[in-house]
Amino acid sequence: MRTLISNGTVVTAEGSHRADVLIDGETIAAVGLDLAKGGPADATIDARGKYVIPGAIDVHTHMELPFGGTFAKDTFETGTRAAAFGGTTTIVDFAVQSKGKSLREGLDAWHAKAEGNAVADYGFHMIMSDVTDDSLREMDKLVDEGVPDFKLFTAYPGVFFSDDGAVFRAMQRTRENGGLIMMHAENGPAIDVVAAGEVAAGHTNPYYHGVARYPIFEGEATNRVIRLAEAAGVPVYIVHLSARDALDAVRAARDRGAMAFAETCPQYLFLSLDDMGNGFEGAKFVCSPPLRPKDHWPELWSGLVKDDLQVVSTDHCPFDFHGQKDLGKGDFRKIPNGLPGVEDRVDLLHDGGVVGGKLTKERWVELISTAPARLFGMYPTKGAVAAGSDADLVVYDPQRKRKISAKTHHMDVDYSCYEGREVQGASDVVLSRGSVIVRDGKFSGKKGHGRYVKRAPATYARIS
Ligand SMILES: [Zn+2]
Repeated sequence: MRTLISNGTVVTAEGSHRADVLIDGETIAAVGLDLAKGGPADATIDARGKYVIPGAIDVHTHMELPFGGTFAKDTFETGTRAAAFGGTTTIVDFAVQSKGKSLREGLDAWHAKAEGNAVADYGFHMIMSDVTDDSLREMDKLVDEGVPDFKLFTAYPGVFFSDDGAVFRAMQRTRENGGLIMMHAENGPAIDVVAAGEVAAGHTNPYYHGVARYPIFEGEATNRVIRLAEAAGVPVYIVHLSARDALDAVRAARDRGAMAFAETCPQYLFLSLDDMGNGFEGAKFVCSPPLRPKDHWPELWSGLVKDDLQVVSTDHCPFDFHGQKDLGKGDFRKIPNGLPGVEDRVDLLHDGGVVGGKLTKERWVELISTAPARLFGMYPTKGAVAAGSDADLVVYDPQRKRKISAKTHHMDVDYSCYEGREVQGASDVVLSRGSVIVRDGKFSGKKGHGRYVKRAPATYARIS
């Protein structure tokens, strides 16, 4: 099967140019002018006036994550389907090691959730909640199996929390096996003290979730884990950076030559602590780190422009407002942490970034696709529009406007954080390895099409 995408503007991290894209089977066969002259294709997609971009990659999702006695609602089927509607053709989800269990058990469980269900490609990172001699040894094996990243937490004492010694031991191990440590960097024990004080003072509304998790606690933990990584001589990747305090730590580290990398998420660029006011409605916006005051926004955008932040991912982790978020009525500490977002990232970043005059369209592609592919061992199979790359492609209309709403989104969750917001830019045709899976708002893919992506260790992150 040969498909020709004709007359579009190919936009990549490197630049933009008018070109046709010829797909043969699952991969891109050629990119260039007048490819129709090479003989007829089986199908042609007219991309006149549109961008042709590499399928977006979301390296931070939590499908079916168990949290606080319930589960994130999207499955690998509904979650990758919603992602596809939004132009995202690859996700990297977090398999979870539970305390006292092996990494293997956690990874097997996540393979079982995804296999035969995902509609688009997926890989895994591994959450390590129990650093032991055994789990350290297991890391080497996972690196070989294409799961080269390990997420540890300085937050959530008693659940995911690792102390500095555990974090350092895991980092030392990646020096030997080539893996990458990803850090949720907030000072959990200190946050718990403040949160308990707020509840004791009768401040039980969701708003106080945001208040209790001080930006300085994120800044402190971010600096600490980067320093530990420097001591171990390894790169480190900070997930879901939300606060200027943390960005300051990353920027300072990069300025002194440390191998520090970080992502932020749309919720930290478009939503704020103000959204958490309004009584229990604020539970819709409870995630960790929390939404910050609006004055953090310009600094995060600046971080994206200056490459102190290299990736925008979503931390997609949806819980229904009715029936799940309400577990925390009367105590914000019991609200399941997480927001839906996998469907909206590409358009929000296009609207706020490119249309908003903050990012070039090339930088937009880099942040949503190419940089995550490079940092997480998938480039140039993913994240590129080039001969030999997977034909994960999006024909993107930079002019079309649409309104975000829970009534029309495809994520399996009963609300949207962006309800009623109009965005400019939308995916018209989405291809996963040469198959059209979404066209003009209609799904044409199939459950089980998505394949496990075995990823290489992050040599890209090892800059010294
Ligand atoms: Zn997360």
